[in-house]
Amino acid sequence: MSHASRRAALRGLLRTADVEALLVTDLVNVRYLTGFTGSQASLLLHVDGDAASRFCTDGRYDTQSAEEVGDLERMIDRGGALALATSADDLGVTRLGFESDVVTVDQHEALVDAAGDTVLLHRTPGLVGRLRLVKDETEIAALRAACAVADSALADLIAAGGLRSGRSERDVSYDLETRMRARGAEGPSFPTIVAAGPHSAVPHHRPTDSSMRRGDLVKIDFGALVDGYHSDMTRTVVLGRAAGWQRDLHALVAAAQEVGRARLTPGAQVVDVDAAAREVVAGAGYGDEFVHGLGHGVGLQIHEPPLLGPTGTGALQVGMVVTVEPGVYLPGRGGVRIEDTLIVRNGVPEVLTRSPRELLEIG
Ligand code: ZN
Ligand code: ZN
Repeated sequence: MSHASRRAALRGLLRTADVEALLVTDLVNVRYLTGFTGSQASLLLHVDGDAASRFCTDGRYDTQSAEEVGDLERMIDRGGALALATSADDLGVTRLGFESDVVTVDQHEALVDAAGDTVLLHRTPGLVGRLRLVKDETEIAALRAACAVADSALADLIAAGGLRSGRSERDVSYDLETRMRARGAEGPSFPTIVAAGPHSAVPHHRPTDSSMRRGDLVKIDFGALVDGYHSDMTRTVVLGRAAGWQRDLHALVAAAQEVGRARLTPGAQVVDVDAAAREVVAGAGYGDEFVHGLGHGVGLQIHEPPLLGPTGTGALQVGMVVTVEPGVYLPGRGGVRIEDTLIVRNGVPEVLTRSPRELLEIG
């Protein structure tokens, strides 16, 4: 699916929102609609078509945008969104939608001034976000590649003996990120989490120089960035033989994760998916130790809608890509999280992260 067909889909939403054009100022949304990968750009998308639409960036990106956004009329202007708002009148726009969930109060004031008296700014939050909820085939290919890079990097790290007592969390995280880059990742999706022993009980622990020790639970949460798309996976292993409580904790989280995965069906309410997995954990007496939502959407951003959690809204649709990641954290002792990235399909969801889920005892 091309960027042009995403823009065509957005035009349908603009008609419903009763505006003649949308000023897209969220950079990730601009990338989604145009393919532009630079750090500054905005887009005025006109309902009449691409010929009436304008892409704007500054002089640093003249060459790059000519290559990436060759199918749209480009403006090179440091004024950015303000310059586009000023041009709206010339493009015959009287009602201009803007991303009111992104634009600040000060920016809005400046846009109103720039648009002038004949162009009315109209709040249209979340229109591009609605399209981004369901991934097209191009996006799924990138997500698939990102997950495959992460899988292969982890398998290699383990095969090379990279997970061993005496090594620091920071070393392991750097090693894993290097292996992902070597396999074509632009970088990690987010700073790699390696959390050993009691640190594994901290959901988003930052790797330290402390050494991993025999008997530690080691929780590794990481992902690769490929073509702007993220992957997200967590595996928890034990260095040496697992103690009974570690084995039990891992089995409990695995059972909750399996229930969560099984509930990923089109039409399922996201709150119900979360509740089903949470019930497994609560049933074993650890409800208070599962301190976060069950999962989240993954795409051009590592965390994006839908949120699979007690405060999430809406239902799953075919083509959504989400994580399922229950965790149980016992302060001072250790924690287990198991996370996969999956595509909601008709029937069984497709698992993109394929690393083995069973408890690995390493060394
Ligand atoms: Zn994660
Ligand atoms: Zn996640």
